[in-house]
Amino acid sequence: MLSITGKTKLLGVMGDPVEHSLSPVMHNAAIAQLGVDYLYVPFPVVPAELNRAVSGLAAIGVRGFNLTIPHKQAIIPMLAEISPVAQAVGAVNTVWPTESGWAGTNTDVEGFLAPLKELTQPWSETVAVVLGAGGAGRAVVAGCATLGCDRICVVGRNWEKLQAFERSWQNSPLPAKLEIHPWEQLPLLIPEAGLLVNATPVGMSPHAQRSPLSATAMAKLPPNSIVYDLIYTPNPTQLLRQATDLGLIAIDGLEMLVQQGAAALQLWLSREVPVEVMRQSLRHHLGL
Ligand code: NAP
Repeated sequence: MLSITGKTKLLGVMGDPVEHSLSPVMHNAAIAQLGVDYLYVPFPVVPAELNRAVSGLAAIGVRGFNLTIPHKQAIIPMLAEISPVAQAVGAVNTVWPTESGWAGTNTDVEGFLAPLKELTQPWSETVAVVLGAGGAGRAVVAGCATLGCDRICVVGRNWEKLQAFERSWQNSPLPAKLEIHPWEQLPLLIPEAGLLVNATPVGMSPHAQRSPLSATAMAKLPPNSIVYDLIYTPNPTQLLRQATDLGLIAIDGLEMLVQQGAAALQLWLSREVPVEVMRQSLRHHLGL
């Protein structure tokens, strides 16, 4: 039974929109399991109000918050400290208070990596093909660089955006082997892709029947390829169904969501958090 008192400490997530965020579900499930006096709530904040909202959260003593679309980059100038991983990715999803102001990091990279670390894969010989060069694509590139992938090929439909994406990594030590490719070059990349990541919304509900790749293109992936779709609804996506039918390793976006959340909660509470409770709360909420 949830009990809010005068001492209850506040956590939350800022986004626009934020109504569909699943973070309150998993964080409050973990908070209830731990029996700590915290509450995690959604904060709908439009971009023009981000600065005022961040000052307001400091004024009322909020203990930490997440950021989702469209605030992950805009928050950076408002922080007193930023972790090396967030600096490399150029985006912050987790913030906590310090004596000198708010500090921020990026737990999406850790979340993305968690299911891959369970696999024994010769990463230094693996070509990663990443579809999409948006916010999640940044965390994926940083993750693939951390794994030591041989090449990281980012594929997109807009050449100017891809060039800007490539330029944005120029001062970062992470992705030494980053390549950008227009969508038309995918047929050349697919036969080399040991890891294929979908970081586009193609295949997401309500367009669940869509896949970023045709069945014919998928059939050209090397045997034992890993197909990782960051989407978590539907579960599985059409892309992951295709991968499973071909006997490939299929990873959905749910574990990334759980693990980025668990890493954030651990940081705010300075203690181990019940990851399985967070995972099951989401599965239950999504009817899985
Ligand atoms: P984003 O910043 O809007 O980026 C989306 C990328 O996909 C852009 O490069 C965009 O290209 C591309 N794209 C969009 N529609 C496309 C289409 N029809 N064909 C080809 N490319 C297309 O979004 P994001 O935050 O990176 O999120 C991407 C996906 O990852 C979403 O499905 C999101 O739910 C998922 N995600 C999952 C997690 C998790 O924890 N599992 C975390 C973050 C995101 P343009 O720039 O040309 O539009």
